[in-house]
Amino acid sequence: MKITLDADKCCAAGQCVLIAPEVFDQRDEDGVVVLLDAAPPAAQHDAVREAAAICPAAVIEVHA
Ligand code: SF4
Repeated sequence: MKITLDADKCCAAGQCVLIAPEVFDQRDEDGVVVLLDAAPPAAQHDAVREAAAICPAAVIEVHA
């Protein structure tokens, strides 16, 4: 799994961080998403897919 995202379009909702805190974080100053692990281990895949599905700005893309 590889993850890409467009942080410029992130609305800082933080949903991804709640669901997959080992993969996503938020910048302290404005809450914009920070990708901690662009190729997370299998144990994280379900959480990452869920985060991508519920991201209100639809900026998280998951590639097989
Ligand atoms: S869920 Fe989407 S909009 Fe919210 S912080 Fe994460 S990437 Fe940004």
